[in-house]
Amino acid sequence: MNVLSQYAQHMLESYSNSPRGKYVSLFIVRRVESEAIFRTEGSGEPLNKEFVHAGGDASSPVIQRVVISKRKQTAVERRTGRELLRRLNLLFATKEGVCSLNANQPCEKCIDCMVYGYAAGGGGAQRSRVITDDAFSLHPAPLITDKKMFNAPFDNSSPWLPEKEGSDKGKRMTGLGADEYVRPEALFLDIETMRDLTPGELQYALGNVLRSSRYGAIASRIGKVRNSLVGIAFSDCELFSNLELTQHSYDLLRGGSADLDFPLSDTAAVQAVRESIQALRRRVMGQVTMLDADTTHALVAELSDLYANEDALRSGLRETTRGYGRGLPDNA
Ligand SMILES: [Zn+2]
Repeated sequence: MNVLSQYAQHMLESYSNSPRGKYVSLFIVRRVESEAIFRTEGSGEPLNKEFVHAGGDASSPVIQRVVISKRKQTAVERRTGRELLRRLNLLFATKEGVCSLNANQPCEKCIDCMVYGYAAGGGGAQRSRVITDDAFSLHPAPLITDKKMFNAPFDNSSPWLPEKEGSDKGKRMTGLGADEYVRPEALFLDIETMRDLTPGELQYALGNVLRSSRYGAIASRIGKVRNSLVGIAFSDCELFSNLELTQHSYDLLRGGSADLDFPLSDTAAVQAVRESIQALRRRVMGQVTMLDADTTHALVAELSDLYANEDALRSGLRETTRGYGRGLPDNA
């Protein structure tokens, strides 16, 4: 980890339970690559949307933007990470099996539990060190959405109404309406802020972001997303919000025209996001160390080499797990 080690002073040498105020902000462009529906799992609700100002100025018109909820983003990325930990036997046993989020049986010792947090039934708790926020579409909702019929009516891929629907329990769905979806090439801007991570934990969490690609409704087989890391900053405080970044980038891209083009070229969008980060950074009251575009690329390349090398990856994750001082799972 040649690139990351140059920034070691901005991370923790070893895990600590007390806040140290060392923040890493990942600037991510999430690009939708297939028709996608973002909504609360299993809710049957329509797309999540919010009314917000189009640009950064108070006189800017109010528009509706599509939202990917912070819960959705973290849930998907945790799932990606836990798949890897499970494969490498780095999830610890619990009374009733193995560390599991679905069964609310956190082991309280694996990297996932320690980085993303847990609240155990027995009273143990660890606050998440990954701070996320709802991500907004760069474009107004009407430009990037459309309606059509989809096959899987529920997120669990069952054609039956879920049990919680009460009197309709177990009733087969008929006469489905059309679902509103997000069109391919829609862009969402997102800052994931991570607090007090060791370099090993950052490699894990960043790997989860870059390796996650399905953010749509589970099992509906729609909602492919490509995450690109367009910048990374180390700082002693949190920086600015997803909404500010989205609005500022919108203003830059729109220029004098009535509205944004759709789809936008990746290059233009990334350039605008980078310029916006530089502009918004001036409002931050604190110390910020920003990686330039080349260094960010080099870091992503380094990470991609690591994930391609199973032995190196396994040994790094084992070391990070041992760093919590509770050894390794018996079968690791
Ligand atoms: Zn765990």
